[in-house]
Amino acid sequence: MPGKQLIILAHGGAGSDNAHSDGTDRACQLGLELMQARTPVLEAVCRAVAILEDDSRFNAGTGSRKRTDGSVRMDAACMDSRRRFGAVSEIQHIKNPIHVACGVADSEYQLLTGEDAHQYAVELGFKKVDLTRIESHAPGTDTVGAVVFDGDQFAAALSTGGTGGSRPGRVGDVPLIGCGLYVGEHGAVCATGHGESITLNLTAYRTYEMLGQGIAPQEALETAYGWFEDSQDIGLLIISRQGNAGGSNRNMAWSILTGD
Ligand code: ASP
Repeated sequence: MPGKQLIILAHGGAGSDNAHSDGTDRACQLGLELMQARTPVLEAVCRAVAILEDDSRFNAGTGSRKRTDGSVRMDAACMDSRRRFGAVSEIQHIKNPIHVACGVADSEYQLLTGEDAHQYAVELGFKKVDLTRIESHAPGTDTVGAVVFDGDQFAAALSTGGTGGSRPGRVGDVPLIGCGLYVGEHGAVCATGHGESITLNLTAYRTYEMLGQGIAPQEALETAYGWFEDSQDIGLLIISRQGNAGGSNRNMAWSILTGD
């Protein structure tokens, strides 16, 4: 794709330590290299997020925090501007839920949950891993995520261990389309932070709508912050054809990388 600007932004979740941006840098590096090799954007963004799932400093994949009953349940979702969307919720025993979400995007379904999501992962060939035996080093209640643009198509992906200490059965914004993420012809948005507020605000979809109205990403980001109380953490990554923006009302490890 000569002459096209490639871009990826990745984050380690609202509340994550800025000092951990070496992790989000690595995710961006892989995502960029994949796009340079003309990997489809959905695969590139999911593989970038898998790097973050494998980093136990972040609350996703192997870093997922335990719930009040000691179990680990994870949510993940991905979407691209060709309107492919896939998500899993309450999945356990899988090292990289984002790859299962990507598998769902290729199926006739959009969201698989619980034991049945795990069974689907097994059918796709994923191995069972006991994540409750792995120590999470993620202090906060973060999500990991990324957005990409290859000059033609957009994509976004999110993965989380959920809010640590939450009651069993709780599902946040991550697997809900238009809440944690949304992607279309105008751009890609992914959110992190207080899941219930992100959901109630339809955060990703309403932010995306601003991109469709020609509003620049930085202005869209600042408008979206205004939907949240000071006590509610929120972070966003946004790419449109006009540019990009990222940030949080808390600390957040995040990175951006461009290339051609
Ligand atoms: N939004 C995620 C959730 O509520 C957590 C986070 O991003 O901090 O599950």
